[in-house]
Amino acid sequence: MKTFSLLIAGCDVLVRDGERYVVRPDHDIAVRGNRIAAILPTGQIEPTASEACIHAEGMLAIPGLINTHTHAAMVLFRGLAEDVPIESWFNDYIWPLESNEEPDDIYWGTLLAIAEMIQSGVTTFADHYFFCDAIAQAVAESGVRAHIGWAVFGHEGEAKLKQTAEFAARWQNGANGRITTWMAPHSPYLCDELFLRKTVEHAKALGIGIHIHCSETPDQVVLSLKRYGVTPPAMLARAGVFEVPTLLAHGIALTAEDIALLRDHDVAIAQCPKTYLKLAMGTAPVRAFLEAGLVVGIGTDGAVSSNTLDMLEQMRLLALDQKQAAKDSTVMPLQTVLDITFRGSAAALRAADLGELAVGKLADIVLLRQDSARLFPVHDPIANLVYSAQSSDVDTVICDGQLLMHRGRLLTIDLARVRAEVSTRLERLSRRAAERRIATYPTS
Ligand SMILES: [Zn+2]
Repeated sequence: MKTFSLLIAGCDVLVRDGERYVVRPDHDIAVRGNRIAAILPTGQIEPTASEACIHAEGMLAIPGLINTHTHAAMVLFRGLAEDVPIESWFNDYIWPLESNEEPDDIYWGTLLAIAEMIQSGVTTFADHYFFCDAIAQAVAESGVRAHIGWAVFGHEGEAKLKQTAEFAARWQNGANGRITTWMAPHSPYLCDELFLRKTVEHAKALGIGIHIHCSETPDQVVLSLKRYGVTPPAMLARAGVFEVPTLLAHGIALTAEDIALLRDHDVAIAQCPKTYLKLAMGTAPVRAFLEAGLVVGIGTDGAVSSNTLDMLEQMRLLALDQKQAAKDSTVMPLQTVLDITFRGSAAALRAADLGELAVGKLADIVLLRQDSARLFPVHDPIANLVYSAQSSDVDTVICDGQLLMHRGRLLTIDLARVRAEVSTRLERLSRRAAERRIATYPTS
C-alpha cells in the first residue's frame, strides 16, 4: 500500500480545470514527502496509521501564496515614512534608515516578516535586500520558500557586486532546495550600463536570473532618456540583462515598445499595487501586459510603502485599481485575478512546481476558514476569496510538505521572542541623518 506523510481531509479545494479555476467541495489532499500525491473526493483515499491527518472540513484549500517582490526586513521601519513624496521617501527616510542596519537586524526583521507572511498564507517570497546570509538563515529555520537576491547599487562597485554573486553561489538550492538565488542590482537609475553588464556576467556564470526595479515612475523614464538616450527597459536590454531570466519589479511607466521588448525576452513583471496607490506612482498597464502575453505576478513590496505583507490585500487592490483606471468594471475578472495571483506569480519566479494544487506539484498548501460572517453565504467561493477573505481567515499553512502554522498557531517561529529582539533594536534603527544614506534617488 502506498503511504502518505500527510492527509488533509474534507476541505474544499481550489484547482484548475483546463484554463479555469474551480472550487471542488469535500475533497482530501494527500501529501507524500514534499509533493502532492493525490486530490480526491473525501473517502476515496484510504487513511493509514502512518500519516498525520488534518481535519479541514469547511475550509478552503488554496496554493501557498507567492510574493514576487518584497524587501522583507523593511518591516523594521513600518510606519516611519507616511504621506511623503517618493523622492523624500527614499532620500529622507528609507536610505538614511537603512544605513543603520546590521546583519542581526536583518535576521530578526526577516523572521518578523516571515511570521506575518505565514499568518497571511504566503509560502514563497522573492526578497531583494541586504545581508542576505541572514535572510537565508531565517528562511532555513522558519521552513518557508524564498527567492533571494542581494540588492546592490552601482556606486558600491564591482567588489561588492562580486560579494553578492558569492552569496548567490553559497545559497543556491539551500535549505533543502527551498532557497533560489538571484542577482539583484537595484535599478537602471542607480546601476549604469557597465555595472549591469558585469552583473549579467555573474548571473550567466551562476546560471541564475536578475531581479531588478524598472520604470517605477514617468520621471524615471525622462531621466533615462536624458542620461542613456533610451527608456529604462531598452537600457537594460542594451546591457544584456534580458539574456538571463529577468524579474522586473513595477514597470508602471512602460511604453508599448517597452512591453514588446519585454515580451520578446520573456521578462516577467511583479505588480505591487498598494505601493503605487500610496506613493501616487500611477497605475501599471497590466491589461496591456496580459494582452502582449507577458507573465505578471503580484508582490507586496516592502512594508514601508505597503505597510503589510498581505497578498490577499494586494490581489484585491490590483483588481480594483485596474477597474478604476480603465473606468470599466468588466476588466480584471475573477479568473484573471486568480491566474495572476497563482499561475502568474509562480511563472514570474520560473517555479513551475508552485502556484497550483495538483498531483506532482510541491506541497505548499494554505487552508482558509470560511466560517466568518463576511464569508457567508458562499454563492461563489472564488468571489469570496478575491473580495471578502482576510488574512485572519488563514488557519493552516504547509510549505514543502511541512506544517508551518496550524489552527492559527505558528509552529516554526517564536513570535514573542522575535518581537522582543526587534524591540531592543528599534531606537537605534529609527535614527535618521540625511548625510548617512546608502544611496541617493536621482531627480535630475
Ligand atoms: Zn522594491
